[in-house]
Amino acid sequence: MFNLTFLGTSCMKPTKERNQFSLFVSYKNKGILIDCGEGTQRQLKHAGIKLSKINKILITHWHGDHTLGLPGLLQSMSASDYNGTLEIYGPKQTKEKIGYMFKAFEFDNKLDLKVIEVKPGRIWEDEELFIEALPMKHSVPCNAYIIKEKDRWKINASRIRELGIPSSMVSNLQEGRSIKVKGKEIRPEQAATIRRGQSIGIILDTAMNENCYKVAQDADILVCEAVYTSELGEKAEQYLHLTAKDAALIASKSNVKRLVLAHFSTRYKNTHDLENDARTYFDNVISAEDFLKVQS
Ligand SMILES: [Zn+2]
Ligand SMILES: [Zn+2]
Repeated sequence: MFNLTFLGTSCMKPTKERNQFSLFVSYKNKGILIDCGEGTQRQLKHAGIKLSKINKILITHWHGDHTLGLPGLLQSMSASDYNGTLEIYGPKQTKEKIGYMFKAFEFDNKLDLKVIEVKPGRIWEDEELFIEALPMKHSVPCNAYIIKEKDRWKINASRIRELGIPSSMVSNLQEGRSIKVKGKEIRPEQAATIRRGQSIGIILDTAMNENCYKVAQDADILVCEAVYTSELGEKAEQYLHLTAKDAALIASKSNVKRLVLAHFSTRYKNTHDLENDARTYFDNVISAEDFLKVQS
């Protein structure tokens, strides 16, 4: 199960109610921060999320509204008793930009940082989860991310006995691999049932493109930008952003369970029009506000 906490839901400019964009995704003891708009570290404090809970930072792109909070956050993490390696993933030039950042701001960096410039596809995995990045279409290099729990096979103990499978081989089936017992091949589905892993798709600044559907495919939760209503569709295209209708169309064509809209233009005093715009095309939609928590 994933827990999402929205730390900022505005786009370029913050408002009294909305910080620049940032989202914290946690899964058991893993914590992933996606983007870090200005003021994110105070938002983390308000949300009660300790800095030590952040293991990874995924940067979608280097526009200021997604990264201006990074120097402050890293300074605070460095000054606290953060231990372990902090991994920062981002598009090309991320290493160079982090280097500039440390040159521009005077502080003693005690963090063990690992900066990774991602290529399309799987960028990280462990035994439970994996993360994928796919390029988007924006005015600067920009990635969308998928955070997915791995599929698990649930073993049927009586079938294991019937088929005479030794206990030492059961883990292969649990990981989806076929085994050979007394010369006979046994496929996982003969002794286990699949439990599909949950997934979260995160699409921020982009014009509509084919990869949006790949990120959204079968997502339990799709977080998608909705800068404007469809009335301002031309403006969205011009500035390489998505409307609420675009977000809903992506969700409806990709078997998404729940759509959460975010990254709103400051022209909207509330999100009624954005949500209604989306709901015409996809029912299960809400709009995020700062500190909204969503569980998968
Ligand atoms: Zn933005
Ligand atoms: Zn942008």
